[in-house]
Parts: sequence; C-alpha cells; structure tokens
Amino acid sequence: MAALNGDRTDPAAVVAAPGPGPRRPPAVRPDLTALTGYHSAQVDVEVRLNTNESPFPPPEDWLEALTRGLADIDFNRYPDRGAHDLRQALADSHGVAPEQVFCANGSNEVLQSLLLAYGGPGRTVALFEPTYTLHGHIARITGTAVRAGRRTDDFRLDLDEVHRVVAEAEPVITFLASPNNPTGRAEPRPVVEAVLDAAPGLLVVDEAYGQFAPSSALDLVTTGGPGADRVAVVRTFSKTWSMAGVRLGYLVAAPEVVEACELVALPYHLDSSKQLAGRLALQFVDEMEARVATLQEERGRIASALADLPVETWPSDANFILFRPRHKEARAVWSDLLAASVLVRDCSEWPGLEGCLRVTVGLASENDRFLAALTESLR
Ligand code: PMP
Repeated sequence: MAALNGDRTDPAAVVAAPGPGPRRPPAVRPDLTALTGYHSAQVDVEVRLNTNESPFPPPEDWLEALTRGLADIDFNRYPDRGAHDLRQALADSHGVAPEQVFCANGSNEVLQSLLLAYGGPGRTVALFEPTYTLHGHIARITGTAVRAGRRTDDFRLDLDEVHRVVAEAEPVITFLASPNNPTGRAEPRPVVEAVLDAAPGLLVVDEAYGQFAPSSALDLVTTGGPGADRVAVVRTFSKTWSMAGVRLGYLVAAPEVVEACELVALPYHLDSSKQLAGRLALQFVDEMEARVATLQEERGRIASALADLPVETWPSDANFILFRPRHKEARAVWSDLLAASVLVRDCSEWPGLEGCLRVTVGLASENDRFLAALTESLR
C-alpha cells in the first residue's frame, strides 16, 4: 500500500499499489464514505405501510397477458435496446413522440441517468428540503454538488428562497418532487412555473405520485410552451401501477434530454420481460385509476381519523401522510406500532422533519390496524 500524497494517516488517500507485500482492495472514493445509504427497514410485519407501495396487486388480466407474452420472448437474445414498443406506448399515453421518452429500471435510475448526464464534478444541483432524499443522495454519488434550500415551516416552497438558491448555485438541475415525498403536497402550478422561470438549467419534476395529485407538470413538456425544453417529468410504475417489483420508471422531456440520458445508459439496460410488463400495464389504465380513487378515499379517511388524535398532520396529494405526535417521541410511537406489527416510516431524523412519521395508505383493513395501534400508543 502506498499513500499518493505521502500522508499515511489519511486512509482515503490510500490506493492499492503494485509491488511486493499483501494487496488489499483500494479505499473507496473518499467522497462516498461520508454518504449513508437510503434504506427503509424490511422487517417482517403484518401491516407494511413504510415504502409507499400499492397495497393492491396489478390486475389478473395483466398477469395473464404477461405470462402469455413471456412465452414468446427469445430469452437467448438481447432485448430491444431502444425499448421501442414500450416507449411508443408511453408516448401515446402522454401525447408525445417516443423520442421524448426515456425508460430505466425504476425512476431512481432515471434520476441517476439525468445526474450522470448533466451532473458531475464542478456542477451543482438545487433542491428544497425536506424532500425526497435520493435526489441529493444520487447527486452526491455522481460527484455533483448539492445546494439544499429550505421549505417553509409548513413545507411549502418559498419563491424568495428559490430565487436566492438558484442565483447562488446556478444549478444544472433543480429538483422538485410533486407531490413532495415525504411531506405530501403537490406543488401548485404557478409555483412550478415560477421555479422554471427562475432556474437556469433543467427543472426535474419528480411525479412518482403524480396520478394521486390534482395537477401535473406534464403539459409543460407536451404543449411545448416557453421553457418546455428545460423540463423533465419523471414517473414510475412502482406506486400507482402496483408494479414496484418490476423496477420501471421513465421521463418525458425534450428529445435532447432523452438523448443525453441515452448517452449514459448501459447497453440493453431494460430487459425484455420488463419492457413487456410495462407495455401491457398501459392497457389497464381504468383499473389503475380505480385503485388510485380507492386509495384517495382511504387517505381521506386516515386524515380525518388523525385529526381527532394528538398529532400534527399536513395535507397530502399522494398515497401517504406525514404526521408528528404532539406529546410523545416519534421513535417511541414507531416502536409501539412495530410491536403491533404495523411498520411506518420513521422520518424523525431527516432534515427538517424532527418528530415526524410517515404512513403509506394501505388496504382499509390495514389502515384500521394502523389507526387502532396509533390510538393505543398515544393514549
Ligand atoms: N421519486 C420519489 C419522490 C419517490 O418517493 C420514489 C420512491 N420512494 C422514487 C422516486 C423512486 O421510485 P422507483 O425507483 O421505485 O421508481
């Protein structure tokens, strides 16, 4: 082992060197050692309300069509590298050209592709906390600097703060999640437009929960108005499409943005069965919308029950609700729920979310279990 800079006390500077003596793997990139992973507990519980998945399986007819289709795949051959049929189907569903659609293995990989293409050393992205942790996390993994602005106390965007942050940071990408995870609200349309106007680079609107919300930024791209070539809307099959196990996400943007993502995508990164699964899912829009409507109704029911408990809550346009117990430590409440076999997300150590927990809307029976356990814990 040899130290590149001669300072043997800095393990991060140590790399494997040729020559005699025992060899060890090189030290990991020093900027990565400061990052902690983003993981939600995968505990075996009866009621799993911690990762915003759909509690419903996809339609049986989808599964049948998929099973039939799988039999026709040439598994000895690489998949369609351009995922043409899937992109065409997505393009048709949004009224855009297939050249405006980029698909990847979950929307996290879409975000990673954007950051590989536009981020990197010497470049900065802007975001507004509290927000989806992975925006900053993936940025840092790609060596991109992160300038985090703050939201207001009730988790809205403050446009003065937005102007200040983007003027200082000159970000290549400004991230919004709408609805915002884990706080729940969708950004009002005038706010999205104001951010697009203020931000110099690409505005990425992460709409992982888009179909639960009253508005979307998709038409900013599809109608081709001012700034349309600087907006990318990211969506996923993991939530409303009930397909978290498939790992499929996509973006809709100008063709140049799609080309940029294609530059960094690995060859054949979308396997044949995933392309088929996604394309077939789009034939079941009515079923998806019915599931969304059921979950919206359940969300309303949970929200009104929470209003009668000693917790602070915020309005949600997504399939989860953030809440803060008023008189008891969040961690203690989380543990009580776990003891009742109900798993929620502990956000209490995330920046700006002290004392907060997040519950995903589940089946009516699961939501009842959650509310009963929470009532008991707060008694
Ligand atoms: N964006 C947001 C805002 C999310 O909450 C999530 C899931 N937690 C994702 C993206 C990633 O979803 P996936 O990679 O499963 O598509």
